[in-house]
Order: sequence, then structure tokens, then C-alpha cells
Amino acid sequence: MFNSSTESDTETGNENDSEGFELSSENVGDELDGDSDEVISIKNLPKEFRKAIIHKNDETKQQEIVIFVDNDNTLCYRYRFYFKKNGYYDNYCPGHSSIKKGASGVLEFQEPTSEHSNDSCQPSKYYPKKFKEPYFKIEKTDGGKDRLDTYEKMGDGFCKYGYTMPNGGFRCNKCQHIPDHNVYATVWKYKNREKYVQLNGTHVCTPTFVESLPPV
Ligand SMILES: [Zn+2]
Ligand SMILES: [Zn+2]
Repeated sequence: MFNSSTESDTETGNENDSEGFELSSENVGDELDGDSDEVISIKNLPKEFRKAIIHKNDETKQQEIVIFVDNDNTLCYRYRFYFKKNGYYDNYCPGHSSIKKGASGVLEFQEPTSEHSNDSCQPSKYYPKKFKEPYFKIEKTDGGKDRLDTYEKMGDGFCKYGYTMPNGGFRCNKCQHIPDHNVYATVWKYKNREKYVQLNGTHVCTPTFVESLPPV
């Protein structure tokens, strides 16, 4: 483990850094390879929460903390960063636990409020697969919006899935027409600024088969 407090913990130090501070990179930083997640420490994190990682993208200003509740990193709770509240919150569950960001950049776990119902709150499945270029491509639609394609190797070619952004997030164009099913894709960035895409579920739609990957 490592401290999340460093001399670079300043709100003014780096204008490109949407979160205003960098977590210590003693164990990650430059050594961060393609498949590593950035592990962070959170003060007062209850024992049943095994490990916390953070996803960031300084272009979209999105940040997400993922806390695993099992040792295999398959079940998790997700907390999105909200600038106005200066903390990380669950999008959907009222009164859910949250993570506060202190002035020095120290992250601190906040217990759920009395509003919270443990019965209706379940962890979600975590899909660790990362799509790196050239296995994803972002382009502009005719209307000027971003659209995304992801590619997965299959036989002599690739399965292609297309996503558009109805309201801020990429959603699979085909899965959305299947009842009770959606696949959302998010673009994150490693510390070395390489982009990657992660999905929140698995496709049940039929992909398009293509023979080659798109040019980078
Ligand atoms: Zn909850
Ligand atoms: Zn799909």
C-alpha cells in the first residue's frame, strides 16, 4: 500500500488534471502496465471492502472509484466523482456509502446514511477487459457527436460493436433494443495518457463481422 498524499497534492498545480491532485505512484506510476489498475488507499475503508481502484479521464473529466467486495475482484461497488460535492457517490442507490475527498487529497470512506437499504443494494459484476487501440475507435457522427466502436478477435477477423452517446455515456446501439439490457462503455486513461475502454456488461446483441481493424 502507499500514501495517497504527496507533495503534488495541490488544487492549483496542474490545470490539466481535473481532479487537482495525483495519487502517489510509488507502486503504479511509470511501471503501470497495460493491464494494471491503479490501486488506491481509502481511509476508514471497512474490512469487507477488499481493494479500491480508480479510473480517470482528464479529457472527459470523469473519475470512478471501484471497490471490490471479494478477493477475486469480480464484484464491486462503483462511485462516480461529482465536482459540486467534491466526492465519489453511487449513481443509483439512495444513501449509499460515499468517498469524501479531503483538502489534502486524502480519500475517506463515508458510511451509508439511514436512508440506505442493505436489502435492495447489491454489488455489480466487474468486467476487467480493457480495449486498447487499435481495438477501439472513436469518431464523430455527422451530427458532430462522438461514436465508438470496439473490436474483439474472432476467427480470421473481428467482431465489431457500435456505441453512441444518447446522454453523456456510450451505449451499445444494438443491446439497447433487447429488453432489460444495456451495455455502457467508458473511455479511461492510464497515467501515461494511453486511452482504453471498459464495458459495464457483456453484449447479447449480434456483432458485425469485419475482416480487419480500423486504421489508428
Ligand atoms: Zn447501496
Ligand atoms: Zn451490444
